[in-house]
Amino acid sequence: MSNLKNKEKIALVCGAGGFIGSHLVTRLKSEGYTVIGSDLKFPEFGKTDADEFCQGDLREQLFCQSIFKKYKYTEIYQLAADMGGAGYIFTGNNDANVMHNSAQINLNIAEYSKNIPDVKVFYSSSACMYPEHNQLDPDNPKCSEDSAYPAAPDSEYGWEKLFSERLYLAYQRNYGLNVRIARFHNIFGPMGTWTGGKEKAPAAICRKVGEATSGDSIEIWGDGKQTRSFLYIDECIEAVRRLMVSDFTGPVNIGSEEMVTINKLAEMAIDISGKSLKLNHIEGPLGVRGRNSDNDLIKKNLNWDPNYSLKKGLGLTYKWILEQMKK
Ligand code: NAD
Repeated sequence: MSNLKNKEKIALVCGAGGFIGSHLVTRLKSEGYTVIGSDLKFPEFGKTDADEFCQGDLREQLFCQSIFKKYKYTEIYQLAADMGGAGYIFTGNNDANVMHNSAQINLNIAEYSKNIPDVKVFYSSSACMYPEHNQLDPDNPKCSEDSAYPAAPDSEYGWEKLFSERLYLAYQRNYGLNVRIARFHNIFGPMGTWTGGKEKAPAAICRKVGEATSGDSIEIWGDGKQTRSFLYIDECIEAVRRLMVSDFTGPVNIGSEEMVTINKLAEMAIDISGKSLKLNHIEGPLGVRGRNSDNDLIKKNLNWDPNYSLKKGLGLTYKWILEQMKK
């Protein structure tokens, strides 16, 4: 245990090499935290801002023990997960790994956190835990927090998220662990995975548009009429921080209510590029027919509402992906 001053704010960010985790590290540093990051890998697209980065496997108990012993953390942010976009989550090919790996990480983190007095633990759940039957109508998906049960997520990724939400809530009930739980809805932006099979729709579409030349078609999975909403990364981090400083446990949605079809998302990216491109609909893994964030609870409890339009966030993401493609 280091000899940090009692009042020092010291955060452990698990998943600090990932998209949201690396942005969160930067934000916590700007707020004066001492930040310890941990992940299997360092951030792919830039240097970490963490004071110390513990590279290792959070499924391993001995590794977890070693990082939990290092400091008396005041906050723990648990973002590490085996995850990806539709091409990773909805094919079924990765189900066992997704469930086993993420559950094992969460079992370790809940268990080691309970021994740290007064620590607050943030857990990143997902909108994928909402029941499929409430998301069949693309124009009227229901994703209010109280619609989670009876549970029927459409993927094993969603079931693991639901299990781990319940795990952290059980540690809160039985051990007094101070937890905060957010259900993220499609977070996107610069420094997110944009190629390789784990990328999500906004990044995949920006890349396809970036690669195409006027007159080409870009491939869209399904008929493109499935709906989603997308939240820009900076807005997500702001909401996470507001949740952490509040007394509200959640689970609470962190997402945008600007719902669009995937066709509309692609048209926006094409518009940003200034190219003239057509859409070519092909078969592909899809997920639920419609999904949108319901922000009533977060507005009421945290007075939070995102400011960025999808177009603005997509413009910044497109620009960043173009830069990556040139490297
Ligand atoms: P990401 O894949 O970029 O980050 C996850 C990180 O976890 C990766 O860097 C990965 O290396 C790390 N990790 C995986 N297994 C590990 C292990 N065994 N030991 C140590 N590190 C390990 O994903 P992200 O988009 O930053 O998502 C962060 C969290 O938010 C995840 O829990 C994810 O399920 C959740 N979430 C994200 C979104 C989104 O739209 N990005 C939506 C819903 C929920």
